Amino acid sequence: MVRKLKLLLSLSLLLAALSIGLCRLSLAQGDADLEAPGLAPFPATMARGATLFQNVRIFDGKSDALSAPSDVLVKSNVIERISASPITLDTKTDVRVIAGDGRVLMPGLIDAHWHAFMAATPQLLLMTADPSYLHLLAARQAEATLMRGFTTVRDLGGPVFGLKRAIDEGVMIGPRIYPSGAFISQTSGHGDFRFAFEVPRTLGGPLSHSEVEGIAAIADSPDEVRLRAREQLRQGASQIKLMAGGGVASPYNPIESTQFTEPEIRAAVEAADNWGTYVTVHAYTPRAIRQAVAAGVKGIEHGQLIDEPTAKLLAEKDIWWSLQPLLDDEDVPALSPESRKKASVVFAGTDYAYELAKKYKIKTAFGSDVLFDARIAGRQGAILAKMVRWYTPAEALKMATADNGELMALSGFINPYPGKLGVVEEGALADLLLVDGNPLENVRLVEDPDKNFLVIMKDGTIYKNALPK
Ligand SMILES: [Zn+2]
Repeated sequence: MVRKLKLLLSLSLLLAALSIGLCRLSLAQGDADLEAPGLAPFPATMARGATLFQNVRIFDGKSDALSAPSDVLVKSNVIERISASPITLDTKTDVRVIAGDGRVLMPGLIDAHWHAFMAATPQLLLMTADPSYLHLLAARQAEATLMRGFTTVRDLGGPVFGLKRAIDEGVMIGPRIYPSGAFISQTSGHGDFRFAFEVPRTLGGPLSHSEVEGIAAIADSPDEVRLRAREQLRQGASQIKLMAGGGVASPYNPIESTQFTEPEIRAAVEAADNWGTYVTVHAYTPRAIRQAVAAGVKGIEHGQLIDEPTAKLLAEKDIWWSLQPLLDDEDVPALSPESRKKASVVFAGTDYAYELAKKYKIKTAFGSDVLFDARIAGRQGAILAKMVRWYTPAEALKMATADNGELMALSGFINPYPGKLGVVEEGALADLLLVDGNPLENVRLVEDPDKNFLVIMKDGTIYKNALPK
């Protein structure tokens, strides 16, 4: 009896070892067919292969005009050929043909300031609910994000490493995610969402709830900032996000405040730079922006309270400015009276900020930065459409495709998706939208993706095809 048990045990150990070996094998293949143990990639029927878009007019992400009618051939996850004359194929058996009928083919949209974990979930729920539940909500929202035509997001804070992995493995549906992991904040900074009873912190004491969950990392010296930055990189952050000045939604800091010191920010910059990547900071005021620039950051988030000399500085130093079209309109979430006051100051700066960005030809990124509100998250495309207050539709769409694609590449050798993003050109990654109408004439088409985006392709896989069969 004992021998039998021993035999069974060693057999099952052998099987376990074998199956681990098999998993290793599939991991080593490293392609989109990667399987999580026991789960088939989704959606198997629409997975890669080759796709031929026939008779499409192309917005390539850069030009302000559409191409002549063209054919576009996608093989695996890459745009292989673009031709103004029809592409004929030797064997049509393995190629999915999509008849464009003169419709517009454009790059998938990129949101340079997104929070996959927090965009659509109310703040109080985020602070109190079972984390596993919150991650499931985030996964549903990731699917909705892709279905809005956003094939890539740069996530500027929140625990999304698992979500990114599940999406990349085909377990869940969602955009490519460039994760920052936890945003790093000083005590009382924009990322300090601790409850009153969690302060004071005992040095070396336990972490607060939002730190344990990977939403925020609170650090108060160059050494602590360096440690927290390296921890994010260890988990797969493609860039580091710091809170370098006051914010709207955070209760413990004035909007005018400058956060961290130059040496603290520089510690993160060095950690990121050694990993081939960069730091971007939340900052509104000239002083906060200037301190961060002096410390070597490569990106400024928001910056609505900037002045002209500081805008000039961004241009000189080639810093990316990730601006949001924040206006006092239907997309303002419910705010406390205190936050509402701060928000008004920011809204008042938005027009001037875009004016300066244009005047000094600063590298400008589009980002929506939706937080805590499912309705507003659903308006991600509508937020992009607002950009025509300052730009032509072509300029706005270029920002959300080719320009943002260039910004994603700033992650250097740790770029999780090496390859060209945000453009329709030969050799680029195949993230494509087939639009019913011409967005260069009517950018508001992106407001209603359900209706107007007929095909959504990410990485060569079609996630939506609403063309009549
Ligand atoms: Zn944000």
